[in-house]
Amino acid sequence: MTDANLTLHDFTALLASFEAEAAPAMTGAASADALDAVRATYLGRAHGWLKDLSAKLGQLEKADRGAAGKAFNEVRLRVEAALEARRTELSPRREAGTLADPSMPARRSWVGAVHPVSQVLDEMIEIFRELGFTIALGPEVETPWYNFGALNFPPDHPAMDLHDTLYISDDAVLRTHTSPVQVRTLQAWAPPIRVLIPGNVHRRDPFDASHAPTFAQVEGLVVDEGITFADLKATLTHFAKRFFGATKTRFRPSYFPFTEPSAEMDVLCGVCDGSGCGVCKQSGWIEILGSGLVHPSVLESAGVDSEKYTGWAFGMGPGRTAMARHGIPDIRILYDSDVRFLSQFAR
Ligand SMILES: [Zn+2]
Repeated sequence: MTDANLTLHDFTALLASFEAEAAPAMTGAASADALDAVRATYLGRAHGWLKDLSAKLGQLEKADRGAAGKAFNEVRLRVEAALEARRTELSPRREAGTLADPSMPARRSWVGAVHPVSQVLDEMIEIFRELGFTIALGPEVETPWYNFGALNFPPDHPAMDLHDTLYISDDAVLRTHTSPVQVRTLQAWAPPIRVLIPGNVHRRDPFDASHAPTFAQVEGLVVDEGITFADLKATLTHFAKRFFGATKTRFRPSYFPFTEPSAEMDVLCGVCDGSGCGVCKQSGWIEILGSGLVHPSVLESAGVDSEKYTGWAFGMGPGRTAMARHGIPDIRILYDSDVRFLSQFAR
């Protein structure tokens, strides 16, 4: 007997668990720095795990030390090989292949950005979500009834003309606004209703600096008992303050077939504070949306009792809003998917 307190069996088990942990740690190191830290933990000369194991060799019976030392060296070589293999993989020279000129600047990786129109939509949705609105979506191919008839367009309204609307067939159009989703929402759900309706709409417009044949629209609809114009004004004024930082808003009478009365909302120009500048075309105000109380015949078309319920709606164009916000002069830029343009809006 000696003063040994460690058996060969125990020592071999320690070696095995060392290797089982150290080799995958080397292979899995994500960077050269991480690999250095792993190396220090397992192979460090001062405090590494391997150093502890070598100290334990002395606690074995003399007869066992030869076999133990051989096993120890084999494990050490395998773990060191794993370290070197990973070091080669992580070496920058390997990625660069033949590095002709080491002074060449590194390639910058491109960082993507949310499209400015999507940013506007996301912010709008967030503001209305806080007010209890949910999102409603609908089809982009509609029947003329949903797109026009149910929304109180008279049968001879010029918007229904072939010159303005893209007909797929006699009874299918590409929706010209998101308002058909108002009708679909009212048919599907009983009031109280508070929905925000984002989506693409299509018009037979030329593709020029200020028109696009397909563009985003966002629309809101509120229907409940006792809803008045005061609800419309309060909600949209709150929105203008939050979204535009507007200090003042004004409502001007307007006309839409599906609302009565109808109003357009302007916000005080934030660039000139109302004194007149190029952005507001010297008027001091910027037009941002159309709105109004839902026409009773729209409620009735969707099967809602217009004696019991009233509502209001608004619609606006996130594309134009994004253009005004960033001073984008040509709407076609929004459709180019040019990353040099889009990367300006990265946040
Ligand atoms: Zn101005």
